[in-house]
Amino acid sequence: MSQEKRSIADFIFQPEEDTEEFRDTISTVDARGKRVWVYPKKPEGFFTRWRTYVSYVLLTILFVMPFIRIGGEPLFLFNVLERQFILFGQLFTPQDFHLFVFAMLTLIVFIILFTVVYGRIFCGWICPQTIFMEGVFRRIEYAIEGDANAQRRLEAAPWNGEKIRKKGLKYAIFYGISVLISNVFLAYIIGSDQVLRIIREPVTTHLGGFVAMLVFAAVFYFVFAYMREQVCIVVCPYGRLQGVLLDRDSIVVAYDFVRGEPRSKLKKSRPAEAVAGVPLQVAGDCIDCRLCVQVCPTGIDIRNGTQLECINCTVCIDACDAVMDKIERPRGLIRYDSYNGIVEKKKRRFTPRMAAYTGVLLALIGLEVFLLNYRVSVEALVLRTPGKLYQEVDDNRLSNLYNYELTNKTNQEYRDIRFRLLDVRGEIQMIGKVAPLTKGGQSSGSFFIVLEKSEVKGHKNPVYVEVMVDGKVIDKVKTNFLGPIR
Ligand code: SF4
Ligand code: SF4
Repeated sequence: MSQEKRSIADFIFQPEEDTEEFRDTISTVDARGKRVWVYPKKPEGFFTRWRTYVSYVLLTILFVMPFIRIGGEPLFLFNVLERQFILFGQLFTPQDFHLFVFAMLTLIVFIILFTVVYGRIFCGWICPQTIFMEGVFRRIEYAIEGDANAQRRLEAAPWNGEKIRKKGLKYAIFYGISVLISNVFLAYIIGSDQVLRIIREPVTTHLGGFVAMLVFAAVFYFVFAYMREQVCIVVCPYGRLQGVLLDRDSIVVAYDFVRGEPRSKLKKSRPAEAVAGVPLQVAGDCIDCRLCVQVCPTGIDIRNGTQLECINCTVCIDACDAVMDKIERPRGLIRYDSYNGIVEKKKRRFTPRMAAYTGVLLALIGLEVFLLNYRVSVEALVLRTPGKLYQEVDDNRLSNLYNYELTNKTNQEYRDIRFRLLDVRGEIQMIGKVAPLTKGGQSSGSFFIVLEKSEVKGHKNPVYVEVMVDGKVIDKVKTNFLGPIR
């Protein structure tokens, strides 16, 4: 058998020619680096309708939540200024930082797992940026300026009465909504009562809060009036992570290139030898009408494949389905599917990567539940006063001095706070009274632990102190009692 002689050149990696030039640029920036303003065509269809319903529900939740109270406390409060956090009416303080870290880790793993399986479904359906941009601000724009072409015409027109009126009205409404969003946003940070106070009382009495509200309003206005899709493309870290999170089994909004290509103009009236030399029998279902591109709020062509800019908003699905209805082809040329689903017609698989993320996610959830379950309502810290040795109280007893610090992690106030020793003959002698614990507050002080000499076995002796609030043991603390060196 003859074997062809192979040269060294045969072993050098020959990269395939990269034809995906669209990945070298982003659609919203031109060759000179200038912003290309996107005028998406007004969408309609099944997914758009359902996304609208979902956005109504989420907007209602967002606006109502700061006003909901549980036992007099807000449902959610993230007061970073006073370091008070309330979740479902439960107070969390900086001492619960570890719970926050685990909760964040759990959330990140959940987001990763969710993205691996379902792609950017969050961006299209749940993200506040998309909901406000597409569900609120864009709708106002359509109502005032009309659909995409009317908007383009208005932009190109000279500054006449109509343009001033339309643009002025639009931006005034945009700013009004930005002020509203800013107030709601502030309500999550400083509480709805405080926001209502800022609104009702003279500006001079809440100058700081008023300035914060104006700054937030200006940021929201800038985001929704000017930044728009650039937030998703350039700023959002979640969007930037897609490249590493998605794989060929991830479900995304995808164009079925197997069915759609080779694309060619016309369909119904296409002659046997179709345009561009594509014979009818091999022509794909895509008629290259570009409606899917015209409706896209990030200005991309989904037929190029999954792209960083795609927020999975589904409007290209609706646009294409409407076209398929018209040319009497089955819907779903653009649909939710994975790359493998399109190429190999494979059903979704539970991949080892998903299994690994699920395992980590379950472990983190388990840990979080465990930690929440063992979270004490009053946390006590008892430390021997540094630099002090033991003292002889009398012939039979020794004493050590301790400092204590109590942190109230609840919304209640506690007045009856006591300490008691556990499983040892001795007593605790308080120095002064224990100050009442206000909600979320702290108190500190000192006490002596006095032990029978027979209990002091060595230089360092572990002792346990129970903290009792209103007659109930709420925490147990281990500390050391110093005795003579033997
Ligand atoms: S809307 Fe559908 S048919 Fe028209 S260009 Fe896009 S993929 Fe092709
Ligand atoms: S490609 Fe489709 S799903 Fe992606 S952003 Fe554009 S319209 Fe939305």
